[in-house]
Amino acid sequence: MSERVIPLVDQRVAALTAPRPTQPVPATGLLGDALGRPLRDLRISVTDRCNFRCNYCMPKEVFDKDYPYLPHSALLTFEEITRLARQFIAHGVQKIRLTGGEPLLRKNIEVLIDQLAALRTVDGEPLDITLTTNGSLLARKARALKDAGLRRVTVSLDGLDDAVFRRMNDVDFPVADVLEGIAAARAAGLGPVKVNMVVKRGTNEHEILPMARHFRGSGVVLRFIEYMDVGATNGWRMDEVLPSADVVQIIRTELPLVPLEHTATGETAERWGYAGADGRHDPALGEIGVISSVTQAFCRDCNRARLSTEGRLYLCLFASNGYDLRSLLRGGADDTAIASAIGAIWQGRSDRYSEQRASLPPDAGTGARRVEMSYIGG
Ligand code: SF4
Repeated sequence: MSERVIPLVDQRVAALTAPRPTQPVPATGLLGDALGRPLRDLRISVTDRCNFRCNYCMPKEVFDKDYPYLPHSALLTFEEITRLARQFIAHGVQKIRLTGGEPLLRKNIEVLIDQLAALRTVDGEPLDITLTTNGSLLARKARALKDAGLRRVTVSLDGLDDAVFRRMNDVDFPVADVLEGIAAARAAGLGPVKVNMVVKRGTNEHEILPMARHFRGSGVVLRFIEYMDVGATNGWRMDEVLPSADVVQIIRTELPLVPLEHTATGETAERWGYAGADGRHDPALGEIGVISSVTQAFCRDCNRARLSTEGRLYLCLFASNGYDLRSLLRGGADDTAIASAIGAIWQGRSDRYSEQRASLPPDAGTGARRVEMSYIGG
């Protein structure tokens, strides 16, 4: 059993001040970071709370009843989130993913989705609005989310074996209810539904084939995620990582797979299609994805920014600090100043943690702890 680390310092306190560049950074939709990567994908965490305690993300020993969750007054309001989203869109964002914690715990989230759905990209196109959920509330909410303008959902499910899943979510939540949520999302037209399974060696790798069999030919896209060293509390160890190459091999022992092209630049998943009798991809059988942040880093195309629930801009999932945009919002800054600050921050971005992981000391030499995934979303 790996050693858990109780966070001594609440890194949420140490926000970076958002710059006020003397030369405004115009919002042209063509912004690039220091490595030439555009800003296309914004992940917005709408709550730091969750009703699960998945041990690779929000271990119960740390995130207990005494954990200092954010007071409601600290959270960005829906109007503030939408105002910030407008500035990110002006810089080129085309896709918004709502995350958490568990985003469906945020009351009236449909109101936010409705506001975001009214926005248009710099090319006048509707935004691609999606949401990542643990599925626990999806059966009840799917229809309303769709009606509000949500396009797609990604549901986390780490196994079909009820005992394994209950152990991993650590709140005794049954698989059946998540499957019901997936069915409701599909019935509401929130598709294609994606299912994310975090694979942790020694915990659930025996669930890989049952999951693949279950979702093959169902229209649901199953993705296997390598267990990551996110945050500072999950006690991550490399020997608990099952490389994606092994996952693909395990599936191929029974179900033939063929490699597929990426669908978009910056896509995190490597796609594999189920082959038919002719050995070629059979779309009716569908596909899987593997997301390999540990063994096959994909930082070179990373076009993702993350906004925490209290308005901090993080430039990488493995960052330690974020830029405080809420002070600009609540301090009277106008939209041009806020857009300029976002532009200046992105222009200076050179994050590529996963590419550097193997060569970095445990705390990346900064002494600062990495931000928790439950705080800025996956
Ligand atoms: S490690 Fe950071 S820079 Fe690399 S892909 Fe992940 S979020 Fe992007």
